[in-house]
Amino acid sequence: MKHMVTESSELLDASDVEIEEALQHADPIVLRGLLFQLTGDEELRDIELGHHLISGYLDVYQVAKPEDAAMIRGKAAAFLKQYRDAGAGPIDIGPRERLLESLSLTAGVPVTPTELPMWLETLGIDPWARGLSWSGDAAPEAAADFSVIVIGAGMGGLNAALHLKNAGVSFRVLEKGDNVGGTWRDNRYPGARLDSPSRLYTHVFGVGYPYPNLYTPGETNQGYLEWIADEFDLRGSVELHSEVTSLAWDDATSEWVVSVTQNGRPQVLRANAVVSAVGFLSQPSIPRIPGLEDFAGDAFHTARWPEGYSLQGKRVAVIGTGCTGYQMIPEIAREAAHLSIFQRTPNWLFEAPGYLKPFPEQVKWLDRNFPFLTNFERFQLAFLQRADMTGRRLKRDAGYQDEHAVSETNRITRDNLIASLERKLAGHPDLIEKMTPTAPPMAARPVLFDPEYSVLDVLLHDDVSLVSEGIERVRENGIETKDGVLHELDTIVLATGFRANDYLWPMEVRGRGGITLEEAWSKDGARAYLGSLVPGFPNLFMIYGPNTNLTVGFQILDMIELTARFALENIGALIEQGKRSVEVTEDAYWRYNDEIDRQEPDMIYTDQRARNYYINKHGRSSSNNPLDTRVLWNWLRDPAGRLKSDAPVSLAPELADAYRVLEPRHGADLVVR
Ligand code: NAP
Repeated sequence: MKHMVTESSELLDASDVEIEEALQHADPIVLRGLLFQLTGDEELRDIELGHHLISGYLDVYQVAKPEDAAMIRGKAAAFLKQYRDAGAGPIDIGPRERLLESLSLTAGVPVTPTELPMWLETLGIDPWARGLSWSGDAAPEAAADFSVIVIGAGMGGLNAALHLKNAGVSFRVLEKGDNVGGTWRDNRYPGARLDSPSRLYTHVFGVGYPYPNLYTPGETNQGYLEWIADEFDLRGSVELHSEVTSLAWDDATSEWVVSVTQNGRPQVLRANAVVSAVGFLSQPSIPRIPGLEDFAGDAFHTARWPEGYSLQGKRVAVIGTGCTGYQMIPEIAREAAHLSIFQRTPNWLFEAPGYLKPFPEQVKWLDRNFPFLTNFERFQLAFLQRADMTGRRLKRDAGYQDEHAVSETNRITRDNLIASLERKLAGHPDLIEKMTPTAPPMAARPVLFDPEYSVLDVLLHDDVSLVSEGIERVRENGIETKDGVLHELDTIVLATGFRANDYLWPMEVRGRGGITLEEAWSKDGARAYLGSLVPGFPNLFMIYGPNTNLTVGFQILDMIELTARFALENIGALIEQGKRSVEVTEDAYWRYNDEIDRQEPDMIYTDQRARNYYINKHGRSSSNNPLDTRVLWNWLRDPAGRLKSDAPVSLAPELADAYRVLEPRHGADLVVR
């Protein structure tokens, strides 16, 4: 793999001083591993590290001594100058056998050798590592005859489409909206922004995408998705204004019959397989508040923000204080004449320095010009969130006794959060009380805030009120609360979330024998085998399906890519073997789901004090996954046993028992016909 993203003229024009100055903005521990990989410089091995435990669970290592940091930066500058002077051409990542040590030098701790294949994917030096690889050198002829319909052109759908295209499989993408982009096309409310680091919010083929912020604004994320569509020439395969209304399995032909409304006209299509990438938080949840339809002003959901809508001079209500509400409130407060925040349940606010700021120019310059730097930066961040770390954050400790917390890590986190609330709202005990959740941190999705400007600052403004009295009803001119007060309004913004547990809704999906997904899930909500397959629904692969959210150790994009590769590997094997369908057995589906159910009670999000979309109406989570992602990665990796890898399963011994719960292979858990 050559370094692809360098804009060579930019580096060629850089002076020594510019290079040296830019490197002052790079993290020495990231440079350390990267330089070791590129140069093999032995001096980078023995460097004293400092260790910080952040929030009781994040093990962060840094180069301890300023003189060592200066030494590393000096070596990095020398490397970059030499590379510039040699013409800044294509450059190789260096010896593959060195990567384990190089990654360990950046991580600050040894990377477990059995986990190396997983981390190499994250590193992204092979941009197509999460695509379909054929057994031979080229796609078999049958690939062009096997048709796949991808539903949705967001993060998941574009990824599946790109890999299908690369593999030469015939596909079309049906997208209900007027553009690609999914959640970022829809969520245009003021302040919409990532709340996980942007460096982890690219597919592995997009690691070099020039993200300008630590946490990117919505329009930049939309730009990334449009870049995928343009750069890889996918636009022609995406049929916009095409809403799938139903899917029905035709057993006689082993095809899906897909009913779609295209530009208002009903059509019926057929496909050998369907990849559903309809998103998880895509259907707005509109609350049934009495009188809402009689409101004389404007009322809309955050995911339906009217283009160009001005709040200038308006009295605005925000109903709902999840990630969306808290993220949007500071922006609304800048413009509105008065803002009323209707809060039923407060959520924990985590301080994220630099949340709203762009990266310094030097950081962006280095990202573009230092070969493989973005790869190593991405690895470092992902490694911090590895399963053994996030496990500590997300799981309860059975023996731990505390009124407010479920483990020592959780208590430390809570103490830090309370301290930051007290700092920001000093002198306002009433607000501190209203903003303190009863559920422990991580029982709901954490919300980030910029210490320099956030909802916590806005709460102190004279023209902002926090209303916790509960909504009685909406009247023509405002909202009446349970204490009888009428809050007069011009605009109501519903930050009331999404129908997260209604997977694939409102499509009607009928599998073998006419059974619907709704019926298959009637007992206790949506489930799937590995987040992807349901028995009785052959060749229907879900992306961001049931129990693929909030995993122990992965970002959501990892799950999107891994479940896509699972689908692609299944499809590839059908094509190569001349078979028609693949389906999970009922027994395997339940073995997987029983394991989820067995591990779920250990998770913080089952805390009785929390009430949010993590738990469905049956009292279990259809969305989150308690399993160790190292096991999930291996389960999802090679369903047809087609990988040419010499080590088909690479797991630490302590995870081997969990791994044996499934046999995620054709001829075992997966039946091929
Ligand atoms: P949410 O977390 O489901 O929050 C919905 C809010 O609406 C809650 O505060 C809820 O109160 C309130 N609500 C619902 N019905 C209500 C009613 N009838 N009366 C009063 N209040 C009502 O939705 P969200 O904030 O849109 O976030 C959803 C998810 O989207 C997040 O968890 C996150 O995964 C994602 N997201 C991500 C980002 C990002 O930066 N990447 C940004 C925004 C959202 P109760 O809690 O009392 O039910």
